[in-house]
Amino acid sequence: MYIENYVKKSINKLIKKYDTDDMIDIVYNNKNLCIYFCKLTKNLNGYYKYLSPKQQLLVVNENLSKQGKQCALFHEYGHCLLKHKGKTFSNSISGAYTKEEYEADMVSAYMFIVHNSIDNERINEIVLPPRVMYLVCKFLK
Ligand SMILES: [Zn+2]
Repeated sequence: MYIENYVKKSINKLIKKYDTDDMIDIVYNNKNLCIYFCKLTKNLNGYYKYLSPKQQLLVVNENLSKQGKQCALFHEYGHCLLKHKGKTFSNSISGAYTKEEYEADMVSAYMFIVHNSIDNERINEIVLPPRVMYLVCKFLK
């Protein structure tokens, strides 16, 4: 299955399960996630680390804009949703754009669209990192 369809299907399943399209609620419904907002360096939006089946760490840079924080929260959650393991996944502008980062951006883009009811008319109201913006446009096509 193409990753786009897998991401959409997984998130739509969560929307049904929790009966909400508030994506922040959905993130916080995962009790295995320890979520922190911290002052990180400028180039780091956040990071994610799988510690054990019952514990995963998710950190978001609190210096980001409101939209930026949402986008980073959904991105890190994407690593959790897609069961990425093994290392600390750093969400940095300068880091290598691996398959895992691309997939997490895809989760972030789709969750951001649902959470903020983004459509083609509202697309100019949002400012996100270019690689997420590209995926938002792709989903809206
Ligand atoms: Zn990442």
